Amino acid sequence: MKIAIASGKGGTGKTTLATNLAFYMAESESVVLADLDVEEPNSGLFVQGRLHHRETTYKMIPVWNKDLCTHGGNCQTVCNFNAVLAMPRSVMVFPELCHGCFACSELCPTGSLPMTTKPMGELKHLKTGALDFIEGKLMIGEEQAVPLIKQTLAYIKRGFPENIVKILDAPPGTSCPVIEVTKDADLVILVTEPTPFGFHDLKLAVDTVRHLEKRFTVVLNRFGIGDDKVTRYCEEEGIDLIARIPNSRKIAEIYSAGGLLYQEVTEVRDAVKSVVAYIHNHSIGQES
Ligand code: SF4
Ligand code: SF4
Repeated sequence: MKIAIASGKGGTGKTTLATNLAFYMAESESVVLADLDVEEPNSGLFVQGRLHHRETTYKMIPVWNKDLCTHGGNCQTVCNFNAVLAMPRSVMVFPELCHGCFACSELCPTGSLPMTTKPMGELKHLKTGALDFIEGKLMIGEEQAVPLIKQTLAYIKRGFPENIVKILDAPPGTSCPVIEVTKDADLVILVTEPTPFGFHDLKLAVDTVRHLEKRFTVVLNRFGIGDDKVTRYCEEEGIDLIARIPNSRKIAEIYSAGGLLYQEVTEVRDAVKSVVAYIHNHSIGQES
């Protein structure tokens, strides 16, 4: 069972929900929590565990061989990501922009762009109790999140059976990295806040998950600030708003100290329980 926690913008409480939901569920069953916000993972701030596995991850990039090149420029033409610049006397590759699609390499008539590995990031796996925590983290300056997300998801797929609960902390936004995380999820939980920015970005996120034809729900964080536009929007659109996490100084203090809110704040425990009840009542992950 895969549950992706996503949001239209950063800072809405995605990690709060992902970590609290994961630890709460791990009190009674095995759970995998994966931080796939690979540019800025921070779920790990809440996890103290035993290191089980750590590896450097790599991506494939082309390397120009000037001795073979005949300077026709085909490599630049076929690259959809502007990662190759073919000049009259040389070819430049921009590894940060390269998606490792092999097109330039395979379509180079002289074999002047063999692919080679380049370190991209790190994958870390911690264990604590019934919780397995897996984090993908891009190296500084590395811009392509999708290859590392794919590798992290593949690591999870290899290591855990289908029926284990997997909570995927997605990157914020609505672009390719989020789609990579949510496209195979059984449920997407969109976390938002009752502010104009939250409302605006929630609508974009809803458009994205509807386009992907995903089952989704909404959790409202910092309930009590702003206005009721998110609540009314969910009612009008027939979207289940399954839990509200209140705005409070106590929550902010516990969070900033790396604490687990559901253990100390009744309203957060109730919110997490509501999410679990929704998952069970709707047989998420058990559909045929
Ligand atoms: S496609 Fe190959 S031969 Fe042509 S310019 Fe690029 S590297 Fe050189
Ligand atoms: S491998 Fe693909 S993305 Fe990378 S430089 Fe070549 S064509 Fe562009």
